[in-house]
Amino acid sequence: MPTSRTTATALNSYAYGQWYAGKGDGIILQDASTGQAVATIDATGLDYQAMLGYARDKGGPALRAMTFHQRALLLKSLGLHLMANKEAFYALSTATGATRTDSWIDIEGGISTLLSYGSKGRRELPNTQLLMDGDVEPLSKDNSFAALHLLSPMEGVAVHINAYNFPCWGMLEKLAPTLLAGLPAIIKPASQTAYLTELMVRHIIESGILPEGSLQLICGSTGDLLDHVGPQDTVTFTGSAATGHHLKSNRNIIANATRFTMEADSLNATILGTDVNAGSEEFELCVREIVREMTSKTGQKCTAIRRVLAPADRVEELMQAVVQKLEAVPIGLPNDENVKMGPVASLAQRQEVLENIEALKTEARVVTANPEAVPLVSGNAADGAFLKPVLLHCEKPQEATKVHAVEAFGPVCTVMPYEHLDDAASLVRRGEGSLVASVFTNDTEVARELVTRLAPWHGRVLIGNRRSAKTSTGHGSPLPMLTHGGPGRAGGGEELGGIRAVKHYLQRTAIQGTPDMLSAVAGRWISGASTKTDAKRHPFRKSLAELEIGDAVLTERRTVTLDDIEHFAHFTGDTFYAHMDEAAAKANPFFEGRVAHGYLIVSFAAGLFVDPDVGPVLANYGVDNLRFMAPVNPDDSLQVMLVCKEINPRENEDYGEVRWDCTVRNQDEQIVAHYDVLTLVAKTLH
Ligand code: NAP
Repeated sequence: MPTSRTTATALNSYAYGQWYAGKGDGIILQDASTGQAVATIDATGLDYQAMLGYARDKGGPALRAMTFHQRALLLKSLGLHLMANKEAFYALSTATGATRTDSWIDIEGGISTLLSYGSKGRRELPNTQLLMDGDVEPLSKDNSFAALHLLSPMEGVAVHINAYNFPCWGMLEKLAPTLLAGLPAIIKPASQTAYLTELMVRHIIESGILPEGSLQLICGSTGDLLDHVGPQDTVTFTGSAATGHHLKSNRNIIANATRFTMEADSLNATILGTDVNAGSEEFELCVREIVREMTSKTGQKCTAIRRVLAPADRVEELMQAVVQKLEAVPIGLPNDENVKMGPVASLAQRQEVLENIEALKTEARVVTANPEAVPLVSGNAADGAFLKPVLLHCEKPQEATKVHAVEAFGPVCTVMPYEHLDDAASLVRRGEGSLVASVFTNDTEVARELVTRLAPWHGRVLIGNRRSAKTSTGHGSPLPMLTHGGPGRAGGGEELGGIRAVKHYLQRTAIQGTPDMLSAVAGRWISGASTKTDAKRHPFRKSLAELEIGDAVLTERRTVTLDDIEHFAHFTGDTFYAHMDEAAAKANPFFEGRVAHGYLIVSFAAGLFVDPDVGPVLANYGVDNLRFMAPVNPDDSLQVMLVCKEINPRENEDYGEVRWDCTVRNQDEQIVAHYDVLTLVAKTLH
């Protein structure tokens, strides 16, 4: 069982299947509050090329041999395992300066992201190795040639270079989509807080849940790693824009067109709406959010609010309310239960923040008290990287540059006035692209106007008002199901956003050929491909083990009478004129007279294709893509072709999903309805 570190032990990397101690002396990493040594870090002597090769040759093939559902289950097991061991991470996390609440965001936020992808992977992806993207594109009139897009896992490795502020979440939020896609990963945590990442990786490796080679760790420098990445690899970077630009311009990355995703710093803003006055619920919510974003993780969140825009006549009241709350925030040791804000992660970080405050002060005045004179409720100010929250006021933001450009990565924020919404939007855009903006308003027009203007410059926009006061996830929280990233200065990258993030690690390829060929390649029946009908055995009599893609049934015919339509209308209560009134129906531009209800057609179709006896088909759980394509008039005769389109056995159940292509035609072979029928089918016959 891995143990928490209490003394300055040397961090190890995990490379080519073993723990590796660097050959150098190592850099000492200090506890953010006490300055005591926590660990040393060094990766001297690592063979980076061998690490890449190990991931490509060992981890990649093992992951790609699995289906999306199997890999999703790995994520679930891993998430549950880490959750069961979370206290070990909490214990070490205090060394980074994080309070219990801060650590919760990092540790449990990260683990929840694994669990979320574990669940989404099984709910939203098929249980296959390849993923079809979009619809089939017919390319010939006789349906002998068509195309589809397939997404397949890249055959390389994902190198994830992470920032110091989220040693757990930063790793896990990238690892989840990477592993789900079928790629192995090499994690490079920022040195400052790498001891926590290392501990978590120890738990992951020792759990034995992941196939060997799917996860490696670099504690220390990346050496010449990026000089060896290839065309199938992906590099993701989270950190400062300066480092990101340097790495992005690596000649090898450019020459190989290696995928490079960057999440950099950002001057996120919040706007107090023109409708919001002091004392209103939205005003209080905005104040609370500013204070929370300044103090949570001691302001070391890439999504934290750095700029506050308020109507000019409400700036003073807003600043007063924020300062009052900030002064009540107890600062001290992160493991002290009374403390709400710990130190920043290191003395170097503190120094950087102080320097950035000095830069901001050339354009803004500090509203709060001296940031260095920190009244602590516990701990020793001389030892730790403690700071007071600093609120600044920039009176002329249109003329300023630094307040829109300098990210003081700590509890620092600048308030600025705006005259009208247009002015507010143009000030926000001076940030040159951010991860997130929030708008506090109870006026839908204010929200619509601002969001329309802000959306192109942001990855996420949150609207806060009284109705969501209790349920809002807040300005600064990236969620697994929502896109995280932002254009321009924010790096232009995109992470999370549910299954979208998985696709970043898959190659999209257009495949052209006959429908039979495409069906075989995609593992999914497509229109025009061969079908197999067996008069003696309805496909509903087959278990998942026997059922094959293309198994089909062509039904008897059924004539729809006027009595049927009237009966259905009165039985269901749907007496819409097009079914009941010949003259009114005729006057309708789409009909020549009374028509059958669409749902009557679907019901008759089920009556035609269903095999009623007890058997392996367990339930019908819906239809997808239902379209009524031509009207059905009294005395038309319907016939159904039902074809097994996709089979998805569930990994940990004794049944799976079967998707059937259902086409309803009339007596002229014209398609009147087309849809997918979704059923649950037992894996074996009982
Ligand atoms: P950083 O100094 O840019 O470092 C980021 C990562 O790059 C670290 O792992 C660092 O490793 C590594 N690195 C530095 N130089 C490198 C090189 N030449 N080759 C390879 N790797 C190199 O940023 P940070 O101080 O850790 O993080 C703070 C910044 O990150 C803030 O600006 C914040 O806004 C941003 N951030 C953005 C997001 C987002 O999602 N957009 C999230 C979190 C943080 P070492 O530590 O070993 O130098």
